[in-house]
Amino acid sequence: MRLVFLGPPGAGKGTQARRLSGILGLPHISTGDILRAAIAQDTETGRKVRDYVESGRLVPDDVMEEIVRARLERPDAAQGFILDGFPRTIRQAEALDTILAERGQTLDRAVLFQVDRQVLIERLSGRMVCPVCGTNYHRVFHPPREDEVCDGDGAKLIQRKDDLPETVASRLEGYYHQIQPVVEYYRNRGLLYELDAEGDADTVTRRLLQGLGISVEPV
Ligand code: AMP
Repeated sequence: MRLVFLGPPGAGKGTQARRLSGILGLPHISTGDILRAAIAQDTETGRKVRDYVESGRLVPDDVMEEIVRARLERPDAAQGFILDGFPRTIRQAEALDTILAERGQTLDRAVLFQVDRQVLIERLSGRMVCPVCGTNYHRVFHPPREDEVCDGDGAKLIQRKDDLPETVASRLEGYYHQIQPVVEYYRNRGLLYELDAEGDADTVTRRLLQGLGISVEPV
C-alpha cells in the first residue's frame, strides 16, 4: 500500500503513521523527521534546510524532491510506504507521481487529517518529543511518566523549535495556504480520503483502518 498523509501540523499524522507502519509493516517516511535528523547531524542537506525548518517555512521543492526520491529508492519502500508530510505543494505531488510512474507504480490513497484549528493550537503548543526515539508526548494530553523524560529510553524531552507559540500560528497559516491545491489535486484524481482526526489516538486509528478497508485481528 502506498499512502500519503496530509494534514496540518499537530493533526496526529506522525502518531497514526507510526501505528499504521507497525500494523502494515511498511516504512513510515516523515520528511520532517528526515530534515531534523539532517540538521542534527549537520550534513550538507542539514545546513541547507536549517533556516527553513526552524522558522516553519517550506523547504524548496527541488531539495525535497531529491530527499524523497533517495528515500523511496531504499529497499524497504519497495512494497509500499506511508509518506507523512510530503507532498506539500503541487510540484511535490507531481514529482511523487513521476517517481512512482518511473517504476510502474501509483499512489493508493491520500489521507487528509482534519482537525479544528483551535484544537491544533492547543495540541501543538504542548507537544514534546524524544530526541532519541522520536516518540511524541504532550504536557496535557499525553504526559510522560516522569516530567520531561522519555518513558522508553529516559532521554530528556525537547520542544521542537517550530512548536514554539510564536511559530505555531505562522506554520498553520502557511500550511492552509499551501496545502489546498494539493488537496484538490488528489480530490480530482479520486484518491482523497478525508479523515475525521479529532478524538483520542485509538479512535482515530480505528477510523483510519476502517476507512482504508484494513481489518486487523483484535489483540
Ligand atoms: P513537519 O514535521 O512535517 O511538521 O515538518 C517540519 C518542517 O520541515 C516544516 O515546517 C518545513 O519547514 C519542513 N518540511 C517538512 N516536509 C516538507 C515538505 N514536504 N516540503 C517543504 N518543507 C517541508
